[in-house]
Amino acid sequence: MAQQDYYEVLGVSHDATPEEVKKAYHRLAVKYHPDKNQGDAAAEERFKAVSEAYQVLGQPEKRAQYDRFGHAGVGGGAGPGTAFDPMDVFREFARRHSGFGGFEDLFSSFMGGGFEGRRTSTAQRRRGEDLRLALPLSLEEIAHGVEKQVRLKRQVVCASCGGSGARPGGRTVRCSQCDGTGEIKIIQRVLWGQVIRTQPCRRCDGEGSVVEDPCPECGGGGRQIQEEQIALKIPRGVADGERLAKRGAGNAGRRGGPPGDLVIEIHERSHELFERRGLDLVIRLPISLSQAALGMRYTLGTLEGSVEVKVPAGIQSGKMLRLRGRGLAAGNQRGDLFVVVQVWTPQKLSKRERELLEELGQLPGLRAPRPGKGLLEKFKDAFRG
Ligand SMILES: [Zn+2]
Ligand SMILES: [Zn+2]
Repeated sequence: MAQQDYYEVLGVSHDATPEEVKKAYHRLAVKYHPDKNQGDAAAEERFKAVSEAYQVLGQPEKRAQYDRFGHAGVGGGAGPGTAFDPMDVFREFARRHSGFGGFEDLFSSFMGGGFEGRRTSTAQRRRGEDLRLALPLSLEEIAHGVEKQVRLKRQVVCASCGGSGARPGGRTVRCSQCDGTGEIKIIQRVLWGQVIRTQPCRRCDGEGSVVEDPCPECGGGGRQIQEEQIALKIPRGVADGERLAKRGAGNAGRRGGPPGDLVIEIHERSHELFERRGLDLVIRLPISLSQAALGMRYTLGTLEGSVEVKVPAGIQSGKMLRLRGRGLAAGNQRGDLFVVVQVWTPQKLSKRERELLEELGQLPGLRAPRPGKGLLEKFKDAFRG
């Protein structure tokens, strides 16, 4: 096939400035864009030719090559067999020149609301919706990881038509609502005139076609609501508010499109004993005056078995003991367990207890030290360990 002169394709002279080349391309690309000329093969050819010409003339080095050697100088352009998508050039152009003389705005109005938005594939448009589910979990469940069965209603592929939306043997026809374009134009009156907006056609869901004889089970959508039990495997150590997606477990796609996802949001129930900070756990351990003075061993029940806590003799109230690796695990990370010791001061004393404490209070070893500083540092380091 003889190749047409690139300057002729763009309708510019051989000494056109880069600016003139760009403008010419822009004008023609809009005119012959496939979105505006659906099913028009001639327009599509012109669009490809225009894009190809601009790919060469729009770049100074390639243009110089072309001027000297013709099509041979630029590898014969992009003929059949070379991987060349005119849309790539077009997109690239739109990207590079956005903000340049209202280029993108112009495109939006021509192409119908959003340049990229219009480029969504059929599969994307048919994709099923994501479903969201809040999943309350106890700290025990989080500590071990858990498998949960949940019941939910979701759109599944219609068993009767297999998702096509058509009665067996039925066919699809052009949508009469939008005349096959898949979109509806809406004219809005504004102060300075009118604005034309487009939105996907409701009748055909932006497809441009509808099934002639819809499946009686699903009404042509290719899917139906069903209550299902879904098994969720939650790994250990998930955080409150964390979201996990189960791919493909959302709504089935329309007319055979890909399914959406099921998005699970973790809601951690508060625990009666432990508080959580990342993977670390914190628990308060009240001990008596004598235990604090003499030291003790305490068997503490944790989320994963029990652990022996060694409280050293002479421990002060508020001291934090750290048990490494006894917190929550996530993957191969493990947090620590912090035991905050609180010396419990007795409040109701019998006569005998009072007498003994008074006696103890006279001994020099039980006298409290003088007031002093040092609290701020202590609080600052509380969680640093
Ligand atoms: Zn059906
Ligand atoms: Zn339609």
